[in-house]
Amino acid sequence: AKRIGSNNFQFFTVDLSAKIQARLALQGQLRLAVEREEFVLHYQPQVDLCSGRIVGVEALIRWNHPELGLVPPGQFIGLAEETGLIVPIGAWVIRTACAQSKAWERQGLGSFRMAVNVSVRQFAQPDLVEYIAAVLAETGLEPQSLEIELTESLVMNDVDRSIDILQRLKAIGLQMSIDDFGTGYSSLAYLKRFPIDLLKIDQAFVRDIETSSDDAAIVKTIISMAHSLGIRVIAEGVETEAQCNFLRLNMCDEIQGYFFSRPVDAARIGELLAQDQRL
Ligand code: C2E
Ligand code: CA
Ligand code: CA
Ligand code: CA
Repeated sequence: AKRIGSNNFQFFTVDLSAKIQARLALQGQLRLAVEREEFVLHYQPQVDLCSGRIVGVEALIRWNHPELGLVPPGQFIGLAEETGLIVPIGAWVIRTACAQSKAWERQGLGSFRMAVNVSVRQFAQPDLVEYIAAVLAETGLEPQSLEIELTESLVMNDVDRSIDILQRLKAIGLQMSIDDFGTGYSSLAYLKRFPIDLLKIDQAFVRDIETSSDDAAIVKTIISMAHSLGIRVIAEGVETEAQCNFLRLNMCDEIQGYFFSRPVDAARIGELLAQDQRL
């Protein structure tokens, strides 16, 4: 057996406390970032496979850190969720995305959905529906232009409660979508209980769509089941033309992924939308 000396133990504690320190520092910086609104939204187009047009964009947050530059959400959303900072951050996202969407509309860039991600804590806020309604009133954005993305695992956490909140969000006219679909363990039969408009197939199933007959079968099944329930389907993480062709052939409604465009800043989306208008 290996000898575990006291030195090793000390290294371990030093290492651990360094991690805690780093975490606390990040937490403090994130708190300041909320006050200073050091965030920026990038947007990724969602393209209709029939018309080839941009029918929606997903707002994806980045932290514009004074020293680190643009920090991807994977590096701070978890911490924001644990600390509750996700609530003011999420409110900022909704406000900013709605204002931006209305601004594009005013510039004559057409109407399309603006999708925002809503996290567990945000979803549990008793005033979420009122907050969104107030933002829509303030910005003048039509409710049907705003789409709320909730992950499959979030809605499956407490199904009855989720349905209740989903119904209240639907009642004010929003579009609802289930994100990362297929990664949870829910049966497709559950879908019919949820008042949803769109289903997003997780990129994990799209990746190997051409080589894995299992993934291909899963994707086909999700699409036909969703359609039989009157739900539109978006495939996420579409990176190649072959994936796109497979999805089109199998009646997927929309694609989102690097094949069409990476998430880009507002100015670039404005250009893409303007191009789209001229087609
Ligand atoms: P998500 O909601 O599943 O968003 C899709 C992620 O996949 C984005 O990563 C996007 O950049 C990436 N992606 C898009 N197309 C492709 C592709 O073709 N290939 C690959 N490999 N990746 C692709 P991003 O922007 O880093 O966001 C990661 C996650 O962070 C999001 O996953 C979402 O869960 C979370 N997130 C982002 N913005 C927000 C937000 O405003 N609020 C909350 N609560 N979560 C957010
Ligand atoms: Ca999403
Ligand atoms: Ca997703
Ligand atoms: Ca994801």
